[in-house]
Amino acid sequence: MKYESTRGGTTPVSSAEAIKMGIAPDGGLFVPVEEVKLAQGQLADMREMSYQERAQSILSLFLTDFSAAEIVSCVGGAYTRDKFDNPRIAPLVKLRDKLHILELWHGPTGAFKDMALQILPHLLTTSVRKTGEEAEIVILVATSGDTGKAALEGFRDVPGTRIIVFYPDEGVSQIQERQMITQEGANVQVVAVKGNFDDAQNGVKAIFGDTGFGEELAHHGMKLSSANSINWGRLVPQIIYYISAYLDLWQAGEIGEGEPVNVVVPTGNFGNILAAFYAREMGLPIKTLICAANTNNVLTDFINSGIYDRNRDFHKTISPSMDILISSNLERLLYEITDHDAEQVRDWMYQLQQSGHYQVDDVTRTRIQEVFWSDFATDEETMTTIRTVYQEYGYLLDTHTAVGTNVYEKYVKAIGDPTITVVASTASPFKFASSVAQAVLGDEVVGEKDEYSLLRLLSEVSNLAVPQGLRNLDTRPIRHTHKTDRHQMAAVVKELLGI
Ligand SMILES: *Cc1c(COP(=O)(O)O)cnc(C)c1O
Repeated sequence: MKYESTRGGTTPVSSAEAIKMGIAPDGGLFVPVEEVKLAQGQLADMREMSYQERAQSILSLFLTDFSAAEIVSCVGGAYTRDKFDNPRIAPLVKLRDKLHILELWHGPTGAFKDMALQILPHLLTTSVRKTGEEAEIVILVATSGDTGKAALEGFRDVPGTRIIVFYPDEGVSQIQERQMITQEGANVQVVAVKGNFDDAQNGVKAIFGDTGFGEELAHHGMKLSSANSINWGRLVPQIIYYISAYLDLWQAGEIGEGEPVNVVVPTGNFGNILAAFYAREMGLPIKTLICAANTNNVLTDFINSGIYDRNRDFHKTISPSMDILISSNLERLLYEITDHDAEQVRDWMYQLQQSGHYQVDDVTRTRIQEVFWSDFATDEETMTTIRTVYQEYGYLLDTHTAVGTNVYEKYVKAIGDPTITVVASTASPFKFASSVAQAVLGDEVVGEKDEYSLLRLLSEVSNLAVPQGLRNLDTRPIRHTHKTDRHQMAAVVKELLGI
């Protein structure tokens, strides 16, 4: 399988090249040249398999230039009991009849980003080796909070790599920030950027687009790559858990062979839901993809109207990992939905860059609406959902997953669709402890307590252990204190790399 750019400006490359580069040289994103389909009977064959074996089968469909031994080694290095605190890696929990929660946060940092970022360093270093690359790989990451920590954990002390993470100084939670600035490892750097996530992401994109900068790095034996979900190596591992969840439902007798399910995804950069879209394209019986947004509902408006407009107020919400107005991976969807019309995609992306706005044609809009349904939840609705789900089922939702669950309720009300549904649960409730505690315990109990006390309190009340990666955060030494203006990011990178 070869990979081409969504903007049509590159000759197709191998998956190893696509993963190594991260973003295509013409500014587009790499996508498979041809459709990847599940073989006849392949779902049935994977039914009895472990998560790791399913991962191997699925990855080998996309990474055709990797040997079987390389894939086994990448999977084996990532999804271990050492790193994941649940033997099933991505377990499904039945909340009630027809509603299942897919817990994607059992990795080291408590968010779903670990599902991809535990394996990406293995995929990337294998890609580097396979392509005969000798340069040191410099990973630049812009994070809305969770990617940064997961990437730092994934890449820390990986030979031949260095990683620099940029996060918006006021756009992440106290726990998210503390997780990052206490990061250990000899090859890691963390920098706060004055601004919001889009500022940090645009800054990183600008560095990638600066050929002079790339040449200067090359001169010093270094090469940039990305661990953001624009990298195909981030996206492809996310396809695995949707297929695995379907197989678990089938295996448990919750669905019959070939029975369709709906999938709800709390969405920000559109990476996670795009992976579900690819699973559907492969032939996984998914009926509707429900795109759940918070009050930064640019995607909801887009799916419902065909108009993408980022010219609007930016809201800081209690689901900060979804506080995004430019969803990078939408570009891949547009490319797939228009049957690979690179010229059209390039034009829309140009309009987005120039005016912050574009409108797709009716055919494209209709095609998107055949697959996607979208709505959003306010902070207040999100809090109510956390509270009622806890009261009714004794189950703790994090703020992002609560957005998903709330939007699912709206979907059922609007459409009345009885299809069995899986909600992607994107973070441990402990990662957003103060909002979750406030929702289930009330303002009075929460009072002036800091996030760390609330984390412990939540653990006592719920009888759940605090995940390893979130324990003792307040007593770990702070190792990173850099802060920069968004226009100075390139200079900061040079300084940190010592060039
Ligand atoms: C990253 C993240 C999201 C959004 O995922 P995208 O792939 O960017 O759409 C949602 N919830 C949590 C907890 C996240 O960390």
